[in-house]
Parts: sequence; C-alpha cells; structure tokens
Amino acid sequence: MTVKVRFAPSPTGKLHVGNIRTALVNWLYAKSLQGVFVLRIDDTDLERSTKENEDGIRNDLTWLGMTWDETFKQSDKFDRYTAAAEDLKAKGLLYPCYETSEELDRRKKIAQSRGKPPVYDRAALELTDADRKELEAQGRKPHWRFKLSGGRAEWVDLVRGQQSIDTSSVSDPVLIREDGSFLYTMPSVVDDVDAKITHVIRGEDHVTNSGAQIEIFLALGAKPPEMAHMPLLIGADGQGLSKRLGSLSAEQLRNEGYEPLALLSLLSKIGTSDPVEARESLEQLALEFSFSKMGRAPARFDENELNGLNAQIVHAMPFEMVKPRLAKLAYGDQATPEFWEVVKGNLQSVPDAALWLAVVYGGGLTGPDLDAEDKAFIGEAAQLFPEGEVTLTTWKSWVDAVKAKTGRKGKGLFQPLRRVLTDQEHGPEMDRMLLLIGGDKARARLIEAAP
Ligand code: GLU
Repeated sequence: MTVKVRFAPSPTGKLHVGNIRTALVNWLYAKSLQGVFVLRIDDTDLERSTKENEDGIRNDLTWLGMTWDETFKQSDKFDRYTAAAEDLKAKGLLYPCYETSEELDRRKKIAQSRGKPPVYDRAALELTDADRKELEAQGRKPHWRFKLSGGRAEWVDLVRGQQSIDTSSVSDPVLIREDGSFLYTMPSVVDDVDAKITHVIRGEDHVTNSGAQIEIFLALGAKPPEMAHMPLLIGADGQGLSKRLGSLSAEQLRNEGYEPLALLSLLSKIGTSDPVEARESLEQLALEFSFSKMGRAPARFDENELNGLNAQIVHAMPFEMVKPRLAKLAYGDQATPEFWEVVKGNLQSVPDAALWLAVVYGGGLTGPDLDAEDKAFIGEAAQLFPEGEVTLTTWKSWVDAVKAKTGRKGKGLFQPLRRVLTDQEHGPEMDRMLLLIGGDKARARLIEAAP
C-alpha cells in the first residue's frame, strides 16, 4: 500500500505556524514511507477564499521545500459533492431542516437549562411532506443534516491510540447550508475517498469531526482512512501560542529572515521524544520522523529556540549559498567570502548582515557619542594609526602602541576603538574587521571622531 496524505488549507487566510506544522507532519510521514503528498485547497467557501491566499499558500510551501505530488481545489469538484449528497439523501442519511439559527439557539438554551447536552433534537425528522411544503411555501429554504448513527465511531489514532466518539452526544452535522453551499465536513470525505487518501493527519481540534466523518465514509460505502490527531501548539510559557506567534504567517517569517529549516526542524521536533536540533534537510527530518515519538502533551513552540536554531543554520551557511541573498541588501553586491567568514558568527539571521555590510562597505557612520576624555583618547589613537594598507597584524600592533602611549587597558582601551571603527558595542574580532574596513576608511573614522 502506498501511503497517501493530504494537506488541506483553506485559502481564507495566510499559512501560519500551526498550518505549517500540519503540512510538515503530513509531508514527513509521506516521505518517510515513500508516499504521496497531496495539496488540497479547501475553497468551498467562495466568499472568503481568495486567489491571492491560494497563491500565497503555494509560494510558502515552495519556500519551505514542501513540494506536492498532486494538487486540486474543492471548487472544481462541486458536481462530485452534489452527487454524494444525492446518494446520502437517497439512503435517508441527509435530511432537510428548516430551523432558523435563532430557533436553534433558543432550543439549545432550553436544553441546557434542563441540564441536557445542547444536541440538535432532530425535530426536522418528524416533519411530514405536507409540513415541508408548507414551510417552503412560506419561503423557508432547508439546510441539510447528516443523520449520525447514535452509536460509537471508533478508530485507533496514530497519536492518541484507541478513540471512541459517542455520536449520540453530538448534533447531526449540517453538511449543506440554506443557500446550497457545502460546509467542509462532507467534501473533505468525498475528496479523501476520490483521492484514495490512506492517512488523515491533522490537529486534535478535529477529533470530534472525525467521529462524524468516519460515519460519512461508511455511509458513502468507503473505508475510513487511518487517522492521526496531533496535540496543539502552545507558547513557551505553557499558554496558548501568543498572539504574535499564532498569527505569524510564513510570509512574515520569511521576511524576518527565518530559515525554512530552522522553522521545520523546530516544528518537527517539538512535542516528540527527539531533542530539538537543527537539521540540514527535510529528507533528514523525514528519516527521523515517527508517530511513535509524538506525545499527547501540547507541543511547546519557543521563539528563543527558533532564534537559536536559525543562528546555528546561518553560521553554517557557505558564502556561495548566501551570496544572492546578501546581494539584495544595501552594499551586499560587494560582499566577499572573507566578509561572510568574519561576520556570520554574529548574525542571528541573514538580513542581520545589513548592519555589517554598512560598517564595512558603507561610507560614514553615525559616529558614537563620546565624552571629551574618550575623544582625546581617540585623537591620540588616530595619530598612532599606521600609514598605508592594513594587515591582519595591524590591529594588535596599533592597540599595543595606543596602550603604551595612553596607559589605558581592557574595556577602556578597546571599547572606544571598536565603537569608532564599527559604530557597535559588540561584534566580530577587530583584527579581521579592520582588515575588511581597510586603512583609509578606518583613518577617516578616527579623524572624524577625534577632537
Ligand atoms: N480545511 C480544513 C482545515 O483547515 C482541513 C481539515 C482537514 O485536514 O481535514 O481545518
């Protein structure tokens, strides 16, 4: 059996961290078993779905390296859904209801006040043909509910183990709205049957849906796929994802300089028994993936951990790989392999290189705010600065001379020099920085800062 999974985002918004994790786990599971990854666009909600979001989802997945083997859109399949609905109607499993949402709310409240669960009472099943005619004559249009068996829907979840949903404790789900449009529940099942999906992998917020959907699979004469429901993501503080993280789109993460593999390494390891470490490829992550490693506890998504992994990946990046990305930053077209070797250890992300590009290749700096004493010190240091081109030993011999002349040492010696030459309090080794900045620019910066 070839494993076949699908990632099914709705193009009503952008991909965010939670969706990326669902896509990733589907992708890793498929690839770990030489399976097939399908991208399904859940655009039955024609009003809220946009082409822009759909394109965005495809771009984001491509950026992340999660390419798909097959893809389709639900909006191309309305005929199939209509046929499936007719099938269910003919079997007496899809029935018309005429309650307005106000009526339903009222009944729910009454049920609750009597201590009963707010489950739809199936009053519509009691309607006669004459009742329905009458209601339709009044201009009411039906919505359609699937008749659950009232028994238990059971499956062995790849993450949660044995599951059993009492379908008498949930309302018969509405599959078709008054206006004839389909809700997500049935099209998803029809598509999983048509595409021969073997495993449905999604967040645990879908567990109850799965109970109803298993019954719809069976009603349509199909075998339900295997199911895996992942624990949800939480923030570092153990609460739900922060507003910032929860709403961070893949596009924003890309713009903030996050590397796909930092994000993917983190998202594939949190909530599992594996340590959180950066990996070099999705293929490597797939080799290490197994549902047996995934726990039931929520997965903790920590931005600091993400930043750490990102830095680790950036530090290991060869110049040839980063060159085209540096070229998009100011002065980046001048960056040399030496530049990259010197500064990369100080970067958390590739765009952070902008600062060092300006220091090395840019003209004047803003200049540090020095007090009179430091200014005088810089004046002396400027006079001692050697003529001609600098070499790797220039920094040390110059600093030794400045030290001998001024009597300064430690931070008092190094800090003003670093600040004048680079405008920064911290940064790469100064001997190598000085070599990158060059003698002329260094002299100009010293003279500029001197009294
Ligand atoms: N479009 C649904 C969602 O984004 C898909 C759920 C599923 O995987 O079945 O929640």
